[in-house]
Order: sequence, then C-alpha cells, then structure tokens
Amino acid sequence: MGYRSSPRCGHCYQTGHARNHCPEIKKRAEEGSDYYKRILQEQKDAVKNRKCSYCSQTGHNRRACQKKVTDGYSFRKILNDYSKEASEVLESKGFTIGSLVRYRSYRIRSENGALAVVTKIETKNKTPDWDWQNKRMRDGTYTEDELHAFNRYSNEQKDYERSVAIMLESLSGTGLGYWGEDSKAWIAIEDLHIYEWDNSSSSYELVS
Ligand SMILES: [Zn+2]
Ligand SMILES: [Zn+2]
Repeated sequence: MGYRSSPRCGHCYQTGHARNHCPEIKKRAEEGSDYYKRILQEQKDAVKNRKCSYCSQTGHNRRACQKKVTDGYSFRKILNDYSKEASEVLESKGFTIGSLVRYRSYRIRSENGALAVVTKIETKNKTPDWDWQNKRMRDGTYTEDELHAFNRYSNEQKDYERSVAIMLESLSGTGLGYWGEDSKAWIAIEDLHIYEWDNSSSSYELVS
C-alpha cells in the first residue's frame, strides 16, 4: 500500500483537502460573494473540461475512467483465453517439459539442426501475437472493438510480454539463438507454426 500525504489547500492552506474542495470557498460563495461564486464556477468548468489521458474524453480523469475499467475486463478475458489455448495447443502437439525437439533455424543452414530439450514453458503474463488476434477476430471469437480494447489496455501494462514461449536447451551445447551458437533459446509459440491455421513449414520436429 502506497503512502499518500494528505493534500494542502492552495486557498486556505489547511491540510486534508485540495483547493477544488475547499469548504472556505464554498461557504463564501453560499454567503453570496460574487468573487467566490466565480471561483466555484471556474472550478466546476475545469472539472468538466478535464481530459482523460486514457480515453481522451473530457469530464473525468483516468482514475475515474469507465472505459479503462471495461477494457480491463476484455484484457483479462482475452489473456486468459490465450494462455489456456496456447497451453493446450503446445500439449496436443507434444511440447511438454522434457520433450526432445530437432530445431532447424532458417538463418543457419545446418541440415540436421540442433537436438534440444524443452526445459521451460512460459504462459504467464504473455499477450497474444497479431496472427492469433486476427484469427480470433475473423472466426468471430472476438469483435474488433474487443481487440481494440485489449490492445489499448495492454499498451499501458508493464510486466507483460508478447507470446507464450518455450525454452530449448541444446544437447550439444550449441546450435541455438540468433547466430546458432547458443546453448539455450526462447522460442515464441507463433514461430513453432503449430496453430491449425498456420501453413508455414515448421523448423521444429518433435523427436520424442
Ligand atoms: Zn481550503
Ligand atoms: Zn476516460
């Protein structure tokens, strides 16, 4: 829980309220002061013209943004569906911890590729790639609006990365990574080409 210091009023210099909620200004306005009535009116106008940095609408700020709340529902729902489905697809294709995989990178023209073991499967805090989103929009699982909401919200989130991924560890201690010289590499699920709609030829072949 963060500590928030109590505000000090810029009008009466009391602590515990901000200038916008000053009882002194309100009292004077109620007593009939034109000067304080005008201040009160200006404060109301400022609130009305306040622009939300999340949805760009006026009249509220991001803390009170209803769109952010409903976007959050879409975000969590889609994230949940995605990681559940990715786990199922990986499992149905035989990618589990300990699976032996022959990996051939298109960058490295090694005929046999590298023999590697799946050592990790990371599904937490992973957002779906564009292919998955497009597919799920075309098949009617989500509307375009839902996916917009999802992306609007996920742009604001820290600690999330794109794509469920598996970690491969090469048995020979090399043959993985960008230059093909690494012993370990994270491979994003869309690069495995194992979704049913993906016709690209896979660079991975399950050995056992
Ligand atoms: Zn005050
Ligand atoms: Zn808003």
